[in-house]
Amino acid sequence: MTSLRIGHGYDVHRLVSGRALILGGVVIPCEFGLLGHSDADVVAHAVMDALLSPAGLGDIGKLFPDTDPAYAGADSLQLLREVTRRVGAQGYAIVNVDVTVLAQKPKLAPYRELMMKNLALAMGIPASRVTLKATTEEGLGFTGALEGIAVHAVALLEQMESRE
Ligand code: MG
Repeated sequence: MTSLRIGHGYDVHRLVSGRALILGGVVIPCEFGLLGHSDADVVAHAVMDALLSPAGLGDIGKLFPDTDPAYAGADSLQLLREVTRRVGAQGYAIVNVDVTVLAQKPKLAPYRELMMKNLALAMGIPASRVTLKATTEEGLGFTGALEGIAVHAVALLEQMESRE
């Protein structure tokens, strides 16, 4: 019987001025960006946690500690490639990934397709298996106050046949 595992990832980064806004590997023109040790790509981070946890690999804090200078300014899509490799080494294939971005600003619709394409490419799966949508929280809470951007991601993993 096919064994399926579901994973959920959640991440938040603070919005500040003087930083680039990078979501799903896309540099999005905006008057503010996300604070972080790496490139602060909160979309890629949530996706990585959704993949790592059901594969029994913990989370990105464990794999890529933000105290490690090796990850200063790191390209999170490269980290996602590494996560995909490790998940594969555990015997899991990625079935699909679905992402929800919670952001008051900017409007993300023009960048949606490219973000999905970048994520799919980094995970080595067809673009049709990655879906992403963005919503505001109607001005409420920390996303509404433009203090940060939050992302939820879910991933479905399928245990690959053992090659005996
Ligand atoms: Mg993060």
